Amino acid sequence: MKLLLSTPSLVHAAHCRNLLQAAGIRADLRNTWLAGAMGDIPLRESAPQVWLIDDEMEAQAWAVLRAADNPVAGPGWQCASCAERHEAQFDSCWQCGAPRQP
Ligand SMILES: [Zn+2]
Repeated sequence: MKLLLSTPSLVHAAHCRNLLQAAGIRADLRNTWLAGAMGDIPLRESAPQVWLIDDEMEAQAWAVLRAADNPVAGPGWQCASCAERHEAQFDSCWQCGAPRQP
């Protein structure tokens, strides 16, 4: 387990988790129950958090989140090498590293 990000917005945290799960990256939400009950707990420790189940997925997770911040219109594509599906903004396969075929 690895802490990926912490945000004051539970909606944002849930959105990030959903993006990761849609990309096949397992993630968990923490501190979701504290909204409205933060009291004396420092915000940094009580803010909703997104945790990665698999530590080694961090680079991919950030790639997914960055891509979601900068959506590019266009059809998705499927890797010719391993059949992994990708959104339009990716130029190579994150599963096997093969470049996108025209
Ligand atoms: Zn591939």
